[in-house]
Amino acid sequence: MKLFLKVLWALGFLLSSVSHAQVDERKKLAFDAVERNAAQIALVGDSLYYFAELGMQEFESAKFLKETLEGIGFRVETGGAGFPTNVWAEWGSGKPKIVIVTEVDALPEGSQTPGSIARKPLVPGAPGHMEGHNTHGAVAVGAAYAVKQAMQRYRLPGTVAISFGPAEEQLVSRPFLVRAGLFKGADAAIIIHLGDNFGTGFGLLNYAAISAKFTFHGKTAHGAVNPWDGRDAVDAVELMDIGFDKLREHLRPSQRAHRTITIGGIQPNIIPDLGQIWWFVRYANAPWAKENYDKLVNVGRGAALMTGTTMDIEVVASAWPQLGNRVIAEAIQKNIELVGMPQWSEAEQKFARDFQAALGLKTVGLTTTPAELGTRPQAFSSNDSGDVTWNVPTGVLRFPASVPGVNYHNWQAAVTPISSIAHQGEVVGAKVLAASVLELLTSPELLAKAKDQFRQDIKDTSYFSLLPSDAKPPLDLNREMMERFRPEMRKYYLNKKPSFN
Ligand SMILES: [Zn+2]
Repeated sequence: MKLFLKVLWALGFLLSSVSHAQVDERKKLAFDAVERNAAQIALVGDSLYYFAELGMQEFESAKFLKETLEGIGFRVETGGAGFPTNVWAEWGSGKPKIVIVTEVDALPEGSQTPGSIARKPLVPGAPGHMEGHNTHGAVAVGAAYAVKQAMQRYRLPGTVAISFGPAEEQLVSRPFLVRAGLFKGADAAIIIHLGDNFGTGFGLLNYAAISAKFTFHGKTAHGAVNPWDGRDAVDAVELMDIGFDKLREHLRPSQRAHRTITIGGIQPNIIPDLGQIWWFVRYANAPWAKENYDKLVNVGRGAALMTGTTMDIEVVASAWPQLGNRVIAEAIQKNIELVGMPQWSEAEQKFARDFQAALGLKTVGLTTTPAELGTRPQAFSSNDSGDVTWNVPTGVLRFPASVPGVNYHNWQAAVTPISSIAHQGEVVGAKVLAASVLELLTSPELLAKAKDQFRQDIKDTSYFSLLPSDAKPPLDLNREMMERFRPEMRKYYLNKKPSFN
């Protein structure tokens, strides 16, 4: 009996080490595919950089991604959920289905000559990648190609999908994509974003947000001759602003609310019949963000009542906080440690230090060790991909592709997204992403644990859409600005076709 058990144990050990070796072989095949295609991966990111398209206007980017993904054998659909620039790609069939989630939009006035530490727009006033979302396309496509190679070689069942959601910078598309059912049937997801270090995280990773414009309609009159005949829409805007400041004292600490007055009258001697104030309301969780938003709506109603005006509301965007799945985070972390940081050259380190010195930052150079798991605090910012994380067990991966201390949403962040620093970050990012997707595809145990964790995480908070039921995709968002600059920007397009092998 004892002997029998021993044999069984030895057999089990043998089997498990075989399967471990197999897992390592698959990863190795994926890593080789990424390395072999490093130049193509860089070309994807660099091509997207020069398109530099604002949210909802990612037409060239979507076309390029569709062609590139079809070129590596993926089925690609654009136009999902009513978004012309939505890109959804898949390879394989059946379960499990793992989705890579990301975005490729740029920001206004971010145009910059890559590599120039001095301010030097490529096209003055034009949009640019001053966060580096172009690198996301490179990592997603590179990893997807590598995963497909491993799935083919080892005849792995399942589906790998990539979702490029439009207009992340204005928190637009994911609540719509979720509502349209695009993530139904997904078993797990991984959200990717560049950073200045290599890491993942779990729990609540950022804030919920609701963005809404409040427009007041009044009646115009002469400011001196008959002001009593007017109803001042800008008074309503001011009263709403003051009213919310009174409310702040009675809101839970750590809330965030900020506003800008977008329509504030014409000239002092005309009583304005139109006024508008645009608010962002944020909180550490979605239900309390909604609670604060509902209070804000009441403040607006009060302002309309006081001034005899009427109010209408346009919810521009909304986002749940990202909920990072701990089980998937642990798997990602292991892969980060397996792949390691890029081997930065002395020239890259020197460039980073010079750049930091020019901006008056600490000259710490580039990050050389991955972030430890569990060290990532909840950020106050928001990302609409948060909505995905409350519907599908989701891991997040931050890959090292920018210079520490250089803030996003400033032109400075557009200096490096096609540099060798970004290219190296794309390669390690694609490796870790590919390895993590492969694990989710091939380990039913890991997937089951991730799903258990997910059920536990959401047991007290069930997802609801922060969007009003009649909300529609804002198709005209950024259209005018993009159309104005695109002809000049077109001159810089790379016009090259990536070819993976
Ligand atoms: Zn971003």
